[in-house]
Amino acid sequence: MQVLKFGGSSVGSAKAISQVCDILASYKRKGAMAVVVSAMSGTTDKLIRCGQLAAEGNEQYRDLLRDIEQLHLDTVRQLFPITAQSGHLSQVKKQLNQLEALCDGIFQVGEMSDRCRDKVMSYGELLSSWMLAEKLRLNGQNAAWKDSRDLILTDNQFGSALVNFDATDHHITSFFHQQSAEIVVFPGFIASNADKDTTTLGRGGSDYTAAIIAAAVDASVLEIWTDVSGMMTADPRIVPQAIAIRASLTRKRWSSPTSGRKSSIRPPSSR
Ligand code: ASP
Ligand code: MG
Repeated sequence: MQVLKFGGSSVGSAKAISQVCDILASYKRKGAMAVVVSAMSGTTDKLIRCGQLAAEGNEQYRDLLRDIEQLHLDTVRQLFPITAQSGHLSQVKKQLNQLEALCDGIFQVGEMSDRCRDKVMSYGELLSSWMLAEKLRLNGQNAAWKDSRDLILTDNQFGSALVNFDATDHHITSFFHQQSAEIVVFPGFIASNADKDTTTLGRGGSDYTAAIIAAAVDASVLEIWTDVSGMMTADPRIVPQAIAIRASLTRKRWSSPTSGRKSSIRPPSSR
C-alpha cells in the first residue's frame, strides 16, 4: 500500500485541491492508497484564535468564524458544479454549525479546556479531507473518506496525545481488510481517546498521522507532499548562478526496503 500526505497549502484552495486530484489520478497505484491531508492553510491557527477569543468573551470570534466559513463554502462552490453543490454545501454547513455551537458554548462559559480546543481544531482537517474525498468521487475515482478518530486511539493528553499503537495498528489493519475503495482519504492530526473524545497529535501532526498509517499497514511507500514557493536549479551556496524555478508541489519519499520492516517507516518513539 502507498500512503501520501498533502499539507495545508496543497489543499489551501479549490485550485490546489484539484491539483492534488490530478496527482492522484495519474499516480502509479499499487493496490489501495491512503491519502492524509492537513487543514486548509491557516485554518488551524484561525480555529485556535477563534476559541481563544470566545473564551475571553470577545465577540470578534464570530468574525473569524465567518472567515473560516467563507473560505470553505467558497471552496465548495469552486470545486463542485452547481448541480452537485447544494448537497455538498449543506454537509459543510452542518460541520460549520457544529463548530459555531461549540464556540458559542465556549463564549458562554468563558473558558476553553484543552479537550475543547482539540475539538475546535479538528474541524480544519475534517473539512479539508471531506472536500478532497468528494472531489475525487466527482472525478470518477473510487474514493472513500474515513474519520481517523475511529482508528487512531490515544491517551488523554489533549494537544499532543500519545498513540496507543496496539489498538491503533489493529484498527487500521482491520479497516483496510474490510474496505474496497481504491483511495481512502483521512483527516490528519486528529485522533480520539478511550472516551471517544477528539484528541490531536501536536501541531504539524498530519505527517505523523500518515506515518502511523504507513507503519500499521507496512506500506511500501510513504510520501509527504509539500507546496514550495519555488525550487533552485542548484544549491545557491555552492552555485551562485543558481536560479529559482516556478512554484510546485514536491515530495519527500520513504520506501520500505523489504516488506515486513515496519520500523523503517515508524516515526521516532520519542513522540
Ligand atoms: N493542521 C494542523 C496544524 O496546523 C496539523 C498539520 O497541518 O499537520 O498544526
Ligand atoms: Mg506540516
